[in-house]
Amino acid sequence: MTDSIPVIRTVAALRAIVAAWRADRDAIALVPTMGALHNGHLTLAKMAKARCQRAVVSIFVNPTQFAPNEDLARYPRDEAGDVAKLASTGADAIWMPSVGEMYPDGFATRIVQEGAALGLEAVVRPHHFSGVATVCCKLFSQVTPDIAMFGEKDYQQLCVLKQMVRDLNLPLSIEGVPTVRETDGLALSSRNAYLTAAQRQTAPALYQAISRLAAKVADVDDIAAACAETSTEIVAAGFQSVDYVAVRDAVTLGDYDPRSANGGRVLVAARLGTTRLIDNVAITNGA
Ligand code: AMP
Repeated sequence: MTDSIPVIRTVAALRAIVAAWRADRDAIALVPTMGALHNGHLTLAKMAKARCQRAVVSIFVNPTQFAPNEDLARYPRDEAGDVAKLASTGADAIWMPSVGEMYPDGFATRIVQEGAALGLEAVVRPHHFSGVATVCCKLFSQVTPDIAMFGEKDYQQLCVLKQMVRDLNLPLSIEGVPTVRETDGLALSSRNAYLTAAQRQTAPALYQAISRLAAKVADVDDIAAACAETSTEIVAAGFQSVDYVAVRDAVTLGDYDPRSANGGRVLVAARLGTTRLIDNVAITNGA
């Protein structure tokens, strides 16, 4: 039988376990999550354990990255299920602070970024990345990991956090992990649970549309027109609306230059019923 993984709920208890690992000179990898774990998260946890002697998975539905009109209250939560799923990953601890432990009375600090944090998701969710960066900065200072692993699924988030670590000289490295997908291409996401059966049939059209764009983008003269065409295809497939289809530099998220060594990325956000799905793929025939 697998030993159950310790669930840690206070900063003091976390500091004690981390100090014991450090005394043994163990390296630590952190996987931040908001729970409702699926195979994408579990892949990150397994990769964390493969990279370091110790792997910590944090589960915290961070209120400061949700706007008042967003899905904080209905965001899926399954604490017992998450703990059970993590047993097979080799993770050494689950860091599960309460909102009060993370944001005690009087909390009054926020990280605000420009660069990769502007545009795309930030147009619809203007305070989102400030909430993400602030909670991740706290998680990094609480767990003191050598590595933190994030999914490419949330590609702008990955770029924003790499930028924060670079800009603030934080002593860890951020590693991106390729998106885990269903066999029909739909990116695994906790929000897929909101989809009806009919919407679930439509959902893979998003990945298919951006994959077609990624395969041809280095050969098109008018990138804006190609993005508009992809957007039309997504709506024709059954999505209600498209927030953006964009072709960007894969590191800065600025304008795409096919000659840049950074490479490029196609990013999309679209609404299927009341559910907002995001996805992205690498540009396959760029420089
Ligand atoms: P979340 O719980 O949605 O905040 O996600 C926690 C971490 O899991 C983030 O780094 C996500 O990018 C990552 N993640 C979510 N879905 C996937 C996926 N389908 N494949 C790989 N990583 C993922």
